[in-house]
Amino acid sequence: MIQVTGVRQKQAWADRELPPVEMVRPGLWSIPLEFPDAPLRYALTYAIEYSGGVTLIDTGWPCQAAWDGLESGLQRSGWSVDDVRAVLITHGHGDHIGLASRIRDRSGAWIAMHEADVPELAKIDNPSAGHVHPQPWLLRRGGEPADFVATEDEFRGETLADFGFEPDRFLQDGGRPLGADSDLIAIWTPGHSPGHTSFYDSAGNLMLTGDHVLPRIRSPIAPPSREGVDVLGNYLAALTRLTRYDVREVLPGHEYRFAGLAERVEELRRYHQARLDEVLAVLHRRPGASSVAVARELGASRPWAQMMAVQCWFTLREAYVHLVHLQHTGYATNEGADVDEWYALQNVGPTLT
Ligand SMILES: [Zn+2]
Ligand SMILES: [Zn+2]
Repeated sequence: MIQVTGVRQKQAWADRELPPVEMVRPGLWSIPLEFPDAPLRYALTYAIEYSGGVTLIDTGWPCQAAWDGLESGLQRSGWSVDDVRAVLITHGHGDHIGLASRIRDRSGAWIAMHEADVPELAKIDNPSAGHVHPQPWLLRRGGEPADFVATEDEFRGETLADFGFEPDRFLQDGGRPLGADSDLIAIWTPGHSPGHTSFYDSAGNLMLTGDHVLPRIRSPIAPPSREGVDVLGNYLAALTRLTRYDVREVLPGHEYRFAGLAERVEELRRYHQARLDEVLAVLHRRPGASSVAVARELGASRPWAQMMAVQCWFTLREAYVHLVHLQHTGYATNEGADVDEWYALQNVGPTLT
């Protein structure tokens, strides 16, 4: 089991309040930024002393409430927005990039993110765009368009105009974005998004995990941007990679800080292990099933017909990334030419080690 170290954050979560600004170690602060009308309620930004000012890791949702929270949070840390020298982005989702361009306009900070997440930025103008599959992709999976088109926009909160941007720099896996002698190392952790990057702070043995590892919820894994990429395999490898670091505390992008990264990674791996077995069992029951047919049979909380389009979408992409991983590891094969037709090749699924 993990140990919650962000005790005041967890209490605030239970009380449905915004957690406090906290100093995690000297020179590193956690600043919660409101994420209106979203179940996650807030995104966590981290400010780290850098070059006579601070660097920020992530910048919240693009709304005035988040901006106000950033201004007051920096003030409580002894800084202001004018002191931001650099912005490092874990991944290109709206609740992490929101204020980046406004901060850059104000302070002249440079913005860095992984190149593989630049296409994510194009979806941001329409936050629900990331929830809509291209029709050919969907039909190939065995879908009927009517199941999926009516997506609900989860994020109805008012957003700032013109929050799109182009990054000034790209993050490199294993690189030190704040300079060769700095304590911060970028670690490419794809899965939730293609270019998702975590950061290791060796000064405090802290791992900043963005949405890659959260203490309570599992963040969804993105479907492959190209047909046949084993996104789940890459994600599982990236989980393991994090456990090679000496980590005292995890600083996630939502929820609360915790200790026990290896335990949390093990929990996530066990979940995917069980899901792979479940998917393989469906293929044994229904040889030749399409990806949508597999998704319909997975232990969903509600029957397919009662699920909102967004939930169907999430269930489908969950099924699909597990199917593709089974294919990559030799446990299943897709024989369909135009529409997926999956067959099991083994009786039991792979053992994730
Ligand atoms: Zn995300
Ligand atoms: Zn997020």
